[in-house]
Amino acid sequence: MTPMLRQYVQWKDRYPDCLLFFRMGDFFELFFDDARVASSVLDITLTARDGERQIPMAGVPHHAAEGYLARLIQAGYKVALCDQITEPDGKTLLERSVVRIVTPGTYVPEESGSDGGLAGLVVDGEWISLAFLQPATGCFEAVTLPLDEARGRVAAFAPKELLVPAGSREKALRALPDVAPGRFQERAREEFDVVSGERWLCRRLGVASLRAFGIEDGERATGPAAATLRYLEETQFGAALHVNRLSPLLRQAFLHLDATTQLNLELVDGEGPTLFSTLNRCRTASGRRFLRQAILNPLKDTAAIGQRQEHIGALVGDHPLRVRLQELLSRCRDVERSLGRLSLRVGSPRDAGALRETLLLWPELVSLCQGTSLEELTSEVPDLDGLKERLSTALAEDPPRFLRDGGVIRDGFDDELDRWRTLSREGDAGLEALAASERERTGIKSLKVGYNRVFGYYIEVSKVHLDRIPDDYVRKQTLVGAERFITDELKRFEEEMARAGAEIARLEESLYGRLLVDILAEGRSLQLLGEALARLDFEAALAEIAWEGRWVCPEIHDGYGLEIVKGRHPVVERALAEIPFTANDVILDSFGERIVLLTGPNMAGKSTYLRMAALLMILAQMGSFLPAERARLGVVDRIFTRIGARDELARGRSTFMVEMVETADILHNVTDRSLVVLDEIGRGTSTYDGMSIAWAVLEYLVQTEKRPKVLFATHFHELTQLADRYPEVVNWSMAVEEGGEGIVFLHQVVARPADRSYGIEVARLAGLPKSVIARAQELLDLFEGEELLIPRREEATPPGQLSLFTVAADGLVEEIAALDPDGLTPLQAMEKLYELRRRC
Ligand code: ADP
Repeated sequence: MTPMLRQYVQWKDRYPDCLLFFRMGDFFELFFDDARVASSVLDITLTARDGERQIPMAGVPHHAAEGYLARLIQAGYKVALCDQITEPDGKTLLERSVVRIVTPGTYVPEESGSDGGLAGLVVDGEWISLAFLQPATGCFEAVTLPLDEARGRVAAFAPKELLVPAGSREKALRALPDVAPGRFQERAREEFDVVSGERWLCRRLGVASLRAFGIEDGERATGPAAATLRYLEETQFGAALHVNRLSPLLRQAFLHLDATTQLNLELVDGEGPTLFSTLNRCRTASGRRFLRQAILNPLKDTAAIGQRQEHIGALVGDHPLRVRLQELLSRCRDVERSLGRLSLRVGSPRDAGALRETLLLWPELVSLCQGTSLEELTSEVPDLDGLKERLSTALAEDPPRFLRDGGVIRDGFDDELDRWRTLSREGDAGLEALAASERERTGIKSLKVGYNRVFGYYIEVSKVHLDRIPDDYVRKQTLVGAERFITDELKRFEEEMARAGAEIARLEESLYGRLLVDILAEGRSLQLLGEALARLDFEAALAEIAWEGRWVCPEIHDGYGLEIVKGRHPVVERALAEIPFTANDVILDSFGERIVLLTGPNMAGKSTYLRMAALLMILAQMGSFLPAERARLGVVDRIFTRIGARDELARGRSTFMVEMVETADILHNVTDRSLVVLDEIGRGTSTYDGMSIAWAVLEYLVQTEKRPKVLFATHFHELTQLADRYPEVVNWSMAVEEGGEGIVFLHQVVARPADRSYGIEVARLAGLPKSVIARAQELLDLFEGEELLIPRREEATPPGQLSLFTVAADGLVEEIAALDPDGLTPLQAMEKLYELRRRC
């Protein structure tokens, strides 16, 4: 093995789980298996380093490494960058060292959108202690939660890497089945220790106790929190100063939306338009982050909701304040992220430029908000004028992407730098003068003076004039039609220029370094600025959409009732565009009538109605206005949904199984303050199974000690009998009109049960062949005539005595009749008795 390969292997051994990018001149090279992986993921050529031994090798140009890194990270790989740390001298082996580790969870690329996210967790029975760390912004939170809540939180945070104690990966996988298994990573158990973790965090965050941040002593989540921050520092080589506090994730403060509900309601992710995409009028990336989090974490505190409403109220309307605010915001940059990148030492001078741009706009934003309720947001941002001044005087107008490109520091900021720069600029003029005087001296008009990176400065004379060159010209390089020379004077000039270049680079590096220190020293204040901007952007966006859609401010209270008058579905309404959306009321006003049983044929608009109710509740608790005529809403603490058909075949679950698992989860976890939205329970199995299950589930929700508010849609109109039995249940339906041509859907909710299923009419609308429709009608008439198959409403009996159960009972009667007691031993008789009872 060559010494260089030995060096490679040494580093690779220290980072076995990473692809090692090994810097060789202008390239990062990968060897052995790493080369094979890179070649297939990046679609780059696989070559061989050593002709004879055939060591596989693949390389990417050093200046384009970021793009390749992004693709490898996207594919779930970790990369260690092993760079040259000494200058080549052509003789000794270059020293190299790993300078950066890039992992999916810690990655913060130049463009936002594929930012990493880290979680650390310990599963303990029915509880999970969790920490979330956002490397881009430094946001760091910890909490211990029951399993089901933890799942919702993890889904909302969507971490790219989840750290778990060694040996607990399987357990974590079982606890969080929705997370891709490849994202879990085991770390040493000690790193998750609560006592030492707490001590380490206190030291690292500079506090005597984590109570300073509102975290209780002995909080179990401090273990995973310590492990998570350690991991970030390990991969970033200690550079993560923007992580300067650990916040408790206050579970009591937020309306809980489980992972399924987040998906079912298409809140932020979905194939079509989502609630996020509908509301997203944000002008900044930080506003969009805030909006996403606000949708997934609606508030519960009426005062906090009221504050957002008030801010939106101040901006609603064709308001010059909002228009101007949004104009300014659209020029603001992502302060949190730029600070994050600079703290992680992956930032560029352009990030510093982004901070300056925003700091320059900030005073105008502050004065704009003055005298309005928004002032309470802007006044929370500390004074940053000092930093603004420094950035304005020190940083160049248009800073380059890399420090090495030069031109980072503004002219006039530093005398010494200015002197060298003047010299260097004068050099260009000096070079021209030198060329002119040489042309004069030699009489060669075509004589040129130039520069090239390998050979340096030269005088170029074409071959035809070679006889006229002076004696002091020293030959340097031969070209096809010309020769290049150097003279003493040019050599002196070259040295001077080299010195100026080196001095400029050195000074820029040190001045920029000091500027970075100044920026990082204001880290916390910049984060507060970023948060205020994000919040302003979020509220302005909600005000804009409220104004456009003529949305109203709901009245939020701590009572039980839920009343929406003429509500519209915010997403569907927009998607329909041409067709007017039919507004509907949602009224679940007391314990008395808290369960709406919604019947109506397929396609009548039941799902849309249920989703609308849930979405409006979320909007209201986000502090947003609502697409409705008016609304009075009591805060809820959980929204459960069972909507739509989702197969999880990859996890070995049929649609029906998924449906039942989700239903079980709801029944186990409902609270007095829950809103439960159930769409077509029991659809995934045979009619009788399905109907029985739907019936039993609804009955459970009536009878459970908890008093959730329930919207229950079904096409089993037989269930409408339940309203006669239980006062809590009210029968509503989607109105349909029967005309000569079949049925027309009115999408209007009316306070009466559907009288039948209309399945065949829907089939006709869908264009099933006439003969099939006719045959179906014939069969339906037949089935409806069968007493045993379809229990008629007037004959219906409570479940347990339903006529379909009498089928089984009838069988029993016959079997008992056929028994021969004399032919049985006492023991056999006992066994038969038990068996019969079991079957009842
Ligand atoms: P169901 O759940 O009863 O099968 P959906 O809620 O899926 O019906 O609605 C079917 C279609 O009817 C939707 O795709 C939508 O285009 C339309 N629709 C539903 N509700 C409304 C409404 N309130 N106003 C206008 N169109 C509606």
